Amino acid sequence: MLQVPERYALFIDNEPVAPLSGDTLPVVDPSDGSTFAQMGRGGGADVDRAVRAARRAFDGSGTEPAAGPWGRLDAVDRGRLLRRWADLIDANREALARIESRDTGKPLGQARADAQALARYFEFYAGATDKLHGQTIPYRHGYTVLTLREPHGVTGHIVPWNYPMQIFGRSVGAALAAGNACVVKPAEDACLSLLEVARLAAEAGFPPGALNIVTGLGGEAGQALAGHPGIDHISFTGSPDTGRRVAQAAATHHCPVTLELGGKSPQLVFADADLEAALPVLVNAIVQNAGQTCSAGSRVLIEAPVYRRVLEMLAGRFAALRVGPGRDDLDLGPLVSQRQQQRVQDFLSQAHADRLEFAAQGTVVEHAPAGGFYQAPVLVAGVPPAHRLAQEEVFGPVLAATPFDDEAQAVAIANGTRYGLVAGIWTRDGARQLRLARQLRAGQVFVNNYGAGGGVELPFGGVGSSGYGREKGFEALYAFTSLKTVALRHG
Ligand code: NAD
Repeated sequence: MLQVPERYALFIDNEPVAPLSGDTLPVVDPSDGSTFAQMGRGGGADVDRAVRAARRAFDGSGTEPAAGPWGRLDAVDRGRLLRRWADLIDANREALARIESRDTGKPLGQARADAQALARYFEFYAGATDKLHGQTIPYRHGYTVLTLREPHGVTGHIVPWNYPMQIFGRSVGAALAAGNACVVKPAEDACLSLLEVARLAAEAGFPPGALNIVTGLGGEAGQALAGHPGIDHISFTGSPDTGRRVAQAAATHHCPVTLELGGKSPQLVFADADLEAALPVLVNAIVQNAGQTCSAGSRVLIEAPVYRRVLEMLAGRFAALRVGPGRDDLDLGPLVSQRQQQRVQDFLSQAHADRLEFAAQGTVVEHAPAGGFYQAPVLVAGVPPAHRLAQEEVFGPVLAATPFDDEAQAVAIANGTRYGLVAGIWTRDGARQLRLARQLRAGQVFVNNYGAGGGVELPFGGVGSSGYGREKGFEALYAFTSLKTVALRHG
């Protein structure tokens, strides 16, 4: 059984190590606002230490590339290690879920699903290590041309606080499977589960330096990682503004970047839709993780003839939602931090001042501790497409409902934000399903479902301010490799 220690170190070369400065940051329990542990405040020098450890694991000490204990490991053996790690995560699933729930505030059931998804990512990528191959290309007479998929070398991973285990799993799982050594910077608001998961990697038998974790502040450890010349690829998941800063820092040494950013994802409900099937999915898409989900379905666009009916059905469900401490495993837990709570309340105050219709809201249970960061889920109706609530990511449990008259208007409203992450279509009309799937500007489109339960196998990523590059599925493996073309002239 994993224990929650009071002091968390960084994780470098398979060892817990204190930051060179000796500084720590408080770890806050969002359910009551108390500090229950301290985490290391890593800085630039710690990042440098972690990058050197990763380089040794990948390159070794000589001049030959990829000759370190991790870099020269056979693909099949990388897969076996990932598989062993997945099994250890599975065996420790409950303990990991409890840590994640306490650290992020999410309901225990949702944290359990995250731990399960983490194991599933490693299982998926474990099976892929020895199936990632190049091609031979028909070329001129007397030549043989082939392509090699090679790991970048050392990859950096900057992770947000909303789904630490899942986002770590999808990005680090694919990077390690492709043969890279990793340096990870978790979010300052939620990092404990990842330190435990790293410890399990050492137990599974990963060589020292293959996986390193530097906790700390974004502007310190994060910025240092993004700009470190020893990093060969950066995978960033977080807000669009930080993503821009990370890409700029990486550009100083021409380091490729994958950006997984925010969203304002719409669900389009047509009058012919199966409303009974749609309703629970529409609600869950904004309530899950208290709306702190990049792919949250935060806008619902409803065809005029059924607008009032759908609104009433949604309102009934919103009114029944309950919010409380993560350990109570209700519909929603607290938001992750006071800052996040303030952000959501600012959006709601503006909606109120603009006289938008507050159609329904859930309840924070009476026994929820006063110091916790609770926010009842809110359904706001009649939101004009240009309103801030329909344009900007709230990152909280606020659903904006907007009516539309016809298909063309629905598409124009859906595509009318700077984001393009996910979209949902609810209709029984097959031709419309395909037409809209093509017309909607998004990295993923779901028809008569939403999110597909996470879908480890499904490539994921955005367009516009939702980012670029793809993670998850087999596609991620290509992103974590560099393609080399070898042309042999043999006559
Ligand atoms: P954030 O951008 O504030 O922080 C994300 C990470 O970046 C954290 O680890 C943080 O410490 C680090 N960071 C902050 N400043 C940095 C800097 N200057 N240089 C390098 N790193 C820095 O985002 P957040 O508030 O933690 O997460 C919420 C955002 O993440 C939302 O916009 C959400 O949509 C997005 N998100 C996107 C996805 C996706 O897959 N597209 C998934 C989850 C979250």
